Amino acid sequence: MDADISENLKRIRYDIGEAMAKYRNPDDSLRIMAVTKTVPYQRVNLAIDDGITLLGENRVQEYLEKKDFYKKDAEVHFIGHLQSNKVKYIIDSVSLIHSVDSLKLASEIDRLAAKNGICRNILIEVNIGGEESKSGVPENEVRELISGISDMKNIRIKGLMTIPPAGQSEKYFERMQRLFCDIRSEKYENADMEILSMGMSSDYVSAVKYGSNIVRIGSAIFGSRK
Ligand SMILES: *Cc1c(COP(=O)(O)O)cnc(C)c1O
Repeated sequence: MDADISENLKRIRYDIGEAMAKYRNPDDSLRIMAVTKTVPYQRVNLAIDDGITLLGENRVQEYLEKKDFYKKDAEVHFIGHLQSNKVKYIIDSVSLIHSVDSLKLASEIDRLAAKNGICRNILIEVNIGGEESKSGVPENEVRELISGISDMKNIRIKGLMTIPPAGQSEKYFERMQRLFCDIRSEKYENADMEILSMGMSSDYVSAVKYGSNIVRIGSAIFGSRK
């Protein structure tokens, strides 16, 4: 029953390899994140056995229940919507938070990181399609948020993350790539524009085309969620 994960990863790696060869520079790198929501830890560990080195967590409670059972060889990032009052549960065990979309959330991460004596890396989540139903900061407020974070000592901005409107990935990935490059060239204090996190099961090839360097894949690895 578990040969599926291995087969799925093989196909995904093949697709990504092809897209990298076609669209990207030879020395570009890209990481495949396995998104674990609703997936039992045993199956997550099979993906780790198959060479996955990065996990993406959406839900604080679910993560806390599973984290001690994950094989230790994988790094964990938090990618879900995060309430400020839950930061304390994950701050010490996830190495990058992809979903920062407010000054309030950033301040809480900064405060707790300081308390723990660490500096936490974050991405700014951009609501690139301006959809009411999605979290993320609107495109025209991204710079204001980055500026607001620039004097926080225990946070470092590493890039941008997005989930585009359904069925229109290509157009919005292109727009994200442009935003990412523009912001990088503007050289904000406290922001290293290194990571562009975009692409999921249905659109990762297109994300590779537009410069993604972390694709977040759930159902194409583990099967559809119930
Ligand atoms: C669920 C989720 C994914 C993965 O979605 P799939 O379509 O299953 O690949 C990626 N990113 C975020 C933020 C998610 O919540």
